Amino acid sequence: KRLPLDPCEDEGVRQVKGACFSRVKPQPLTSPRFVAVSDQALSLLGLSAEEVRDDPRGAQYLSGSVAMPGSEPAAHCYCGHQFGQFAGQLGDGAACYLGEVKVPHGQNPELLIENPSGRWEIQVKGSGLTPFSRQADGRKVLRSSIREFLCSEAMFFLGVPTTRAGSVVTSDSMVQRDIYYTGRPRNERCSVVLRIAPTFIRFGSFEIFKQADEFTGRQGPSYGHDELKGQMLDYVIEMFYPDILQNSNRVERNVAFFREVVVRTARLVAQWQCVGFCHGVLNTDNMSILGLTLDYGPYGFMDRFDPEFICNASDSSGRYSYQAQPAVCRWNLAKLAEALAPELPPERAEEIIDEYMDLYNRFYLEIMRKKIGLLKKEEPEDEMLITELLQTMHNTGADFTNTFRTLSQISCPSEGENEEDVISLAARLLLEQCASLEELQTANKPTMNPRELTMLLSLAQSNPALFQMISDRATIARQLDKLSKLKDLMETSEEALKAKQTQDWTVWITRYRKRLGRELEGHGDAVQAVQDERVKVMDSTNPRVVLRNYIAQNAIEAAENGDFSEVQRVLKVLEKPFSSQPGLELPTWVGKSGAAEEAERE
Ligand code: AMP
Ligand code: MG
Ligand code: MG
Repeated sequence: KRLPLDPCEDEGVRQVKGACFSRVKPQPLTSPRFVAVSDQALSLLGLSAEEVRDDPRGAQYLSGSVAMPGSEPAAHCYCGHQFGQFAGQLGDGAACYLGEVKVPHGQNPELLIENPSGRWEIQVKGSGLTPFSRQADGRKVLRSSIREFLCSEAMFFLGVPTTRAGSVVTSDSMVQRDIYYTGRPRNERCSVVLRIAPTFIRFGSFEIFKQADEFTGRQGPSYGHDELKGQMLDYVIEMFYPDILQNSNRVERNVAFFREVVVRTARLVAQWQCVGFCHGVLNTDNMSILGLTLDYGPYGFMDRFDPEFICNASDSSGRYSYQAQPAVCRWNLAKLAEALAPELPPERAEEIIDEYMDLYNRFYLEIMRKKIGLLKKEEPEDEMLITELLQTMHNTGADFTNTFRTLSQISCPSEGENEEDVISLAARLLLEQCASLEELQTANKPTMNPRELTMLLSLAQSNPALFQMISDRATIARQLDKLSKLKDLMETSEEALKAKQTQDWTVWITRYRKRLGRELEGHGDAVQAVQDERVKVMDSTNPRVVLRNYIAQNAIEAAENGDFSEVQRVLKVLEKPFSSQPGLELPTWVGKSGAAEEAERE
């Protein structure tokens, strides 16, 4: 289903009225060359890593520098709510659609469940100016491209729905960027990721059909927006939700479609929470209509568990913090529902959105129970046990990924054991994952300067009305919280801290083992079998390795110095996140993220 083309095809930055896409040409790179390729992602297209590397035009094709035969490149025009505000027209400002590749003959039939359309949309990201580039240049640099490439693939191998990345290409074309943490500009190499997904259509793709008065300078109904919306809806459902098509009544079909998007989104967020992933920019234009993780910008995997973890340096209020993700996605779904009206009756949408939190909680609990190895009958107290685990991790500054991975080493209660010994051994293991005093002190140093903070505090007292108008009250509250924690930490010794951490863990482990005892009930002689099954499930649910910031940063720095092997090596490790591969260890985390605090800033 083709939508009307933008009649004018010149390059430039402008409002593009009455169109869902514009034809564009990717800007060629100077001397494009591969940094890394994902054999697994390329296989979706019937290609192999070897084949594209051996092809003298491989890097040119996969970066969009030379048009592939049959490709009809275009930039998609979409809208979005950014940080809670309707942002009007956005669109592919740096990405470019190259076309679609039919699922190769003989490909794993299971893939058709994941992608019932039978074809893969391919995109180049960082391919230069489009009519939607606004003030920017449509380019991406090596660090942001490597981050997107590695994380797309890492998420896939963790079992989290995501868009894929086939390759990352760099070049001798240069652009200037301000490095966020130094504030200084530097020249960087233009780099391009080949992205692959059944479709990149997002919530914002439907928001483009909102009524004219919500836009500045964009015409509305005369372009037949409702009709176009219907067409796009038909397209998405026919191609990607064929099961729903059986619904002959249009409204019921649309309701069923929306319910499915809600379910997929709830499941996706639950998966993010369970691997400690923070997306960073959950604007509606970054929400996939297929429930995929979409747009890897300033994302982050948590090291030490902190529900308030923010990975986007420009998100000072914490709108997109780790703990905010489930609710923010609900909010985004409500915006999608608004955009789908009247195709989707608002009162029907509301009913479904009301189910979202329950859905989310169910998915979350289901995964979390696996993560702590509870496989038998669910008990009402399981939720509490998980909450207390996270609370203990937070109190002790425990590493999220490593703590979960360690839990499979805690055995179920058995006859003849010395319970005290077992618990103290387990506590020692977990203590290794906890923060040191120095680390906790550093983590709780307010980032706002004390004078500024004092001034703001006195304003809060002297002129509460004015203080209320400050948009960053949440930041100030966080800073104050840190300050009071820091005060306590300054009065503690390392020994006292360790004793407290040990005590916290002992309490939790004791409860946990009581609960594990009930997993064994009714299994008489098969205790060992239950234990083995438990370890197996836990070790295939709790990854040994995730793409921590410093791992990406190491690979980026090596690549910037001309050594691309680290990117390819990291990919190899991340392809098997649940097992150890001899000779392929990444440096173990030593508890400092150091200079890795590099959000995507362009
Ligand atoms: P994001 O926050 O990455 O979802 O991007 C928001 C909007 O900015 C989207 O319309 C992007 O296409 C656009 N954008 C992001 N990066 C660039 C860039 N380097 N050049 C032009 N447009 C961009
Ligand atoms: Mg985006
Ligand atoms: Mg982005």
